[in-house]
Amino acid sequence: MALLELNDVVAGYGPTTVLHGVSLSVDEGGIVALLGANGAGKTTTLRAISSTVRRTGRVVFDGHDISSHAPENVARLGIAHVPEGRGTLGQLTVWENLQMGAYIRRGGVAKADYDRVCEYFAWIPERRRQVAATLSGGEQQMLAIARALMMRPRMLLLDEPSLGLAPLIVQEIFKIVRAINEQDKVTVLVVEQNASIALQASAHAYVLEVGRVVVSGTSVELQKDEAVRRSYLGY
Ligand code: ATP
Repeated sequence: MALLELNDVVAGYGPTTVLHGVSLSVDEGGIVALLGANGAGKTTTLRAISSTVRRTGRVVFDGHDISSHAPENVARLGIAHVPEGRGTLGQLTVWENLQMGAYIRRGGVAKADYDRVCEYFAWIPERRRQVAATLSGGEQQMLAIARALMMRPRMLLLDEPSLGLAPLIVQEIFKIVRAINEQDKVTVLVVEQNASIALQASAHAYVLEVGRVVVSGTSVELQKDEAVRRSYLGY
């Protein structure tokens, strides 16, 4: 069953339209990849879901039409957006960043949530007082995901978690994303330019080109399709 559905979503900035009628769906409990070249509209699609960009069309989450919801209401329904560039607050400590995540659901840091996050990110307890800006790029990405988990989301929107990270760190982050999906049953929509790793992690994928879905299918099908790989995925 679809947890999230986009129907004919048009979105843009000022006078510029970037998405020209995007429709897609994400099954509950799944991992879906949203792929495409630079500027295809992947980030804008995530923003259209979290209501942080001007848009029309229908966005349905868990059977509720959230098309006219404000961003904070989308977040409170259980959609946690980890933006491109991570969105961690560099001047705050690791602990304060986690508190920000908990704040969105109007609570303090619950011990159970903190313990769960530390199971995924074992380095966090001893680095709680470290200022986020002094973490490595990989740790900052992990902190951004950890902070999103403090919201107890039903769905994670991940915007290019691999950006600027070494291949081994990228593998580790995707391993953790899969574990979060399997153990905590968090549904994931992940935007990636690194199509290869995103297709390995996901069950289904959509490819965007100039604001339109041009290809979709199971990730296994897309991986096998050499024409799709060459034309759209660049590997
Ligand atoms: P990338 O991987 O480079 O981020 P993308 O597929 O995520 O690419 P978007 O970031 O959604 O693409 O950008 C799609 C188009 O929208 C681009 O032409 C971009 O210049 C434009 N755009 C993105 N953000 C803004 C903004 N805040 N104001 C104006 N135009 C924007």
